[in-house]
Amino acid sequence: MIVALNELEEGTARLDWEETPEELHIQDEDLQFVGPIRTQIEFVKIGESISASGRTNADLRLECVRCLEPVSFSLSSDFKFVFQKNRPESMADDEDETMIWLDESGDKVDLGKEIKDYILLEMPLNPLCKTSCEGLCPICGEDLNQTQCNCSSTQTDPRWEALRAFKD
Ligand SMILES: [Zn+2]
Ligand SMILES: [Zn+2]
Repeated sequence: MIVALNELEEGTARLDWEETPEELHIQDEDLQFVGPIRTQIEFVKIGESISASGRTNADLRLECVRCLEPVSFSLSSDFKFVFQKNRPESMADDEDETMIWLDESGDKVDLGKEIKDYILLEMPLNPLCKTSCEGLCPICGEDLNQTQCNCSSTQTDPRWEALRAFKD
């Protein structure tokens, strides 16, 4: 996602992208994107100062952590960037804005890595097909949403129950 900052007009400019995960350097093969990753960014250029705010949307197919069935997930991430030349020795980043440090020319910048980081931040750690998902039987592996196996009724391990409560 290369932006030619030197070609931005004074004032506001809106740019749209549709990209593949590869173009954003997302190499995690467990992440199955459905369709392109869509990004809209509005740049504001006033003299030497450039900032931007935008949003990235993407659709994914994840796997339920309990029963392993596919789960559709729509991701949306908002961000703000401030572009600066010549990074000072020590400076804390603002919490709401991400500083993008430019090289001396400041002509072009690749935002792919930043967008990728925002996408990965939005990934659910424990996707579920539904909050009440019963998961798989730890003994026989049956999907307990579909069937009630025999082992679960005769053999309930209290440690497993405690773990389930914790996961919920
Ligand atoms: Zn599930
Ligand atoms: Zn079972």
